[in-house]
Order: sequence, then structure tokens, then C-alpha cells
Amino acid sequence: QFPFGRRLPCDIYWHGVSFHDNDIFSGQVNKFPGMTEMVRKITLSRAVRTMQDLFPLEYNFYPRSWILPEEFPLFVDEVRMMKDGDPSWKPTFIVKPDGGCQGDGIYLIKDPSDIRLTGSVQSRPAVVQEYICKPLLVDKLKFDIRLYVLLKSLEPLEIYIAKDGLSRFCTEPYQEPTLKNLHQVFMHLTNYSLNIHSGNFIHSDNVNTGSKRTFSSILCRLSSRGADVKKLWSDIISLVIKTIIALTPELKVYYQSDIPAGKPGPTCFQILGFDILLMKNLKPMLLEVNANPSMRIEHEQELSPGVFENVPSPVDEEVKVAVIRDTLRLVDPQKKKRKDVQQHIESCKNTVNVRYNYFLCYRCQTLEHVSEANEELLDAGPADRRECGGTPSPEAGLPSLCLKQVFPKYAKQFNYLRLVDRVAALFIRFLGVKGTTKLGPTGFRTFIRNCKLSNSNFSMASVDILYIDITRRWNSMGIDHKESGMCLQAFVEAFFCLAQKKYKSLPLHEQVASLIDFCEYHLAALDEKRLVCGRG
Ligand code: ADP
Repeated sequence: QFPFGRRLPCDIYWHGVSFHDNDIFSGQVNKFPGMTEMVRKITLSRAVRTMQDLFPLEYNFYPRSWILPEEFPLFVDEVRMMKDGDPSWKPTFIVKPDGGCQGDGIYLIKDPSDIRLTGSVQSRPAVVQEYICKPLLVDKLKFDIRLYVLLKSLEPLEIYIAKDGLSRFCTEPYQEPTLKNLHQVFMHLTNYSLNIHSGNFIHSDNVNTGSKRTFSSILCRLSSRGADVKKLWSDIISLVIKTIIALTPELKVYYQSDIPAGKPGPTCFQILGFDILLMKNLKPMLLEVNANPSMRIEHEQELSPGVFENVPSPVDEEVKVAVIRDTLRLVDPQKKKRKDVQQHIESCKNTVNVRYNYFLCYRCQTLEHVSEANEELLDAGPADRRECGGTPSPEAGLPSLCLKQVFPKYAKQFNYLRLVDRVAALFIRFLGVKGTTKLGPTGFRTFIRNCKLSNSNFSMASVDILYIDITRRWNSMGIDHKESGMCLQAFVEAFFCLAQKKYKSLPLHEQVASLIDFCEYHLAALDEKRLVCGRG
């Protein structure tokens, strides 16, 4: 902590809120630019919707959602149509104000006409979502899961998931929603911040009882009931990877704007909190992603009326301490330095005549050669804690990592979903001036021209109309007025339009994939030509 200002650059900057807490030119920051904006309820819903358009089956882990106020008429129409199609369908919806947290302003409705349109929706945009009526219950109570996920790097994508998480319980026995119980927050909302105020809240002094438990204790219960816990974990991993794949395209636009390539800047990592609800059939559903998950490991207890004391919370401690500790282990700047020195030594051994020393490897108990370059590092650690290869092991004595890598480990299964990432790469290429997040009309025209997308059926005048129509609509939604021009989401919509036009008969994801291939092919040819001309 630097209460009087920071003078020296740091290895790791641990920011409380967002990326923009300071001016930073090196090291690592624990936040990505734009993450707070990306996980807001409306932005997340939009990003997931784009993926649902492309891959409806793969992205069915997010409840059907509409964005208010702009999609209110669509919401009314679609619900009416679905009810007409199936008169037995008696849905419930949950309305969540954008940017809200801790259950703030959330309410349940049975009919679109129950939305509190007057004033609130206009002044406070929101998401209305299908309510999951049949959640899995434990001890007759609804609960959700908070899982911690480390996004270690955006490019290349590296994701880790904590092996254990928290289960946060409601404090009133659950009943399916009826007009009578819709308003009972202790029955329907699992937020800790709400349920703590219920007289029934039980502070846990061990990890498998009370209103907040470890997720592993729930898994044990489920496993003893014969549930397929392995499949559940694999579904959760898949949900996390797919959600991050939905977020990465826009995150990359923010990233290049805040940390332009080729200029000094930090790298980023971030711990995210995933809120997941299990349905009765054990299908995990994503509720939301938190960019700033609480890392508190104590709670307030009222000793006597009005007198509060902070007391340790063993459940929070067990889960959260491990997450922070392992995040630091994974991003440890010394680790990279050690690796670099190691590589240096490997190459030196073959080429340069280095002075050798010996040390005893504590693991395999053999004598190892170490070069001069490595001595300095070895001196940093206790002599009896040295590993083969010459590096001291500060990890020795620490528990095994609770954070498990899931990407790139499972990349092969998910890479086909990363289409919008490739569209974003095209968008970024044509942004032109570094530091912007929006594409101007000239940039859009250059994109069309360089990718050879204009022809007798699609004139440059039509290109301009497409640009103006889509840009105007996205900008009228009032998302970001700081810059004028076409945002990534608008570009993606224009790209999908072009793909549909060009490859009529294919399903949308194949149309988009074909157009990306087409564009990438022409841009590669152009780059080649420029290279040859440059050499000439
Ligand atoms: P907040 O950021 O205010 O906590 P959430 O989206 O996490 O908003 O919703 C608050 C709570 O409402 C969740 O913890 C969950 O218990 C409940 N909830 C949210 N969405 C749904 C849904 N679609 N179906 C059922 N319950 C939901």
C-alpha cells in the first residue's frame, strides 16, 4: 500500500476496483481494462446472446434474457407467442437492474405487464430473464455456487478454475414461485448480503453446515446420493470456458486501446467470481460474473445490541486464501525470471565454456551441475531446498495448487467457438489510430475494400448505408457516448449481415466462419504483396 503515492515501479499491482487505479507502464495488474463494463448484466447478456445466435445449443446455460428498455416490446411479443404455442407454460421472470449487485432492486414477475416501467426502467436499464423455477435444493433450500476463476492471460488465453468454491444458501424453504410468494427474497434470492439479515441465517463454524458452505461439501452430499459429480464438474468447466470465450473479443478491444502493442505497458490477470445455479437435473446455469468478487474472510457478529465485532469465517478462509495464494504463485514474476535463467543456462551449456559448481538436488538426491549465472538465484534459497535443473523451489512446502488450468488444456474442444475473436481481430486491424475502440466510416470502407467484399451487387454506397444504419442504432442505445463510430458489437452485427448475404444457405456459424476465412485470406495476400513491394 502506498498511502502517500508510489515512486517505484512494482512487479504486481493489486487494484481494489478496476484497471485504471494508476498510471502503470510495467509489471502486472490484477485487473483487465474493460472487465467491469463487460460483466455488467446488460453487456454480459449481449455478449452471450451473440454466441447464442451462433451456437444456440452450446450456450444454453444462460437463461433467456431481454434488455430493457429497448427490448421490452420484443419481450412482450415473444412471451405472448410462447404462451400461445404452449398454453400450459406458466413462466416466471426475474428483473435485474443493470450494474446492480447484492440483489439490489431485483424482483420477480409473472407477466410482462408487471414490469415497473414508470420511471425506473427509463432511468435504470435492466435485464429481464426467465426465472429458473426448479433449482436443486439441499435441506429444502435454494442455493447458488460462487466459483473463483483466474483469467491469467488474454493472448494467449489462459484460464484456471479453483477446485473449491462457496455455496450460498437461502434462509426460507423453497417453493416454486406463485403470486403469493414472489416477493419473498429469503426464499428466492441466494445473496449472502440479503440472507444475512434473515433471522434464520446460520454462520458456519465448519465447512459443511450453515448458510454458507464449501462447494466441495455439496459435491460430497451429491456424490453420496449417487449423482454424477464428474459430469457436473465437466459441465461447469465448459460453462466457464464458454463464458470467457464470449467476453474475450470485446476485452481485446479494450486491451489494445489501453495498452497499445509496441508501447511500454503492464500485462494483466484477474480473479473473477462466477455465480452459478444448479437446476434440479444438475445442469449448471450461469447467473452472473463478478469482476470484483469479495475476498473478505471474516464477518460481523453482534456481540450485544449495537456492538459488532469481526470474527473469522472458516468457510471463506478455506476457499479464498487458497485462491489468492495460488494466483500469486501463478503470476509470480520471479518464476518467469527463473525460467529465463534456466533457458539461458541450457543454451550456455552447449556453447560457452562456463564455470560449473555442484549442488545436491533435494528431490532426487543427485549431484547437479549449476552454472555461474545460476548461482545468484541459488543463493536466494536455502541450500537444502534446491531442485534438479538448478533452481531453488520456493513452492516447496506449499500445498498443491487449488487453481487448475482448464485453458489451453481443453482448447481443442472449444477453439471452434472462438469465431467472434477472429472478427474482433479484423475490427482491431482496421481501427487505425491506436487507442480507439470505435471504427470510423473510412476504416469500415477500407475493411470492405481490402477484404474484397464489395461487388456489383454490393456497392460502396450500400456499404456506407450499412455502416450508418447499424452504427446509429447501436449508438442510440446509449452504451458509450465518449467516442463516435462503430463499436465492436455493431461491427459484429454488420459482419453477420455480410456473411448472411454472401453465403445464403448455410447455418449462421458456417456463414460467419466462411466469411472470416475469406477476409483472412485476402488480408494475408495483401500483406504478402506489401512485403514483396517493400522489399522491391
Ligand atoms: P446480483 O448481482 O444483484 O446478486 P444476480 O444476477 O446474482 O444479481 O441475482 C441475484 C440472485 O437472484 C441470485 O443469486 C439467484 O439466487 C437469483 N437469481 C438470479 N437470476 C435468476 C434466475 N434466472 N433464475 C433463478 N434465480 C435467479
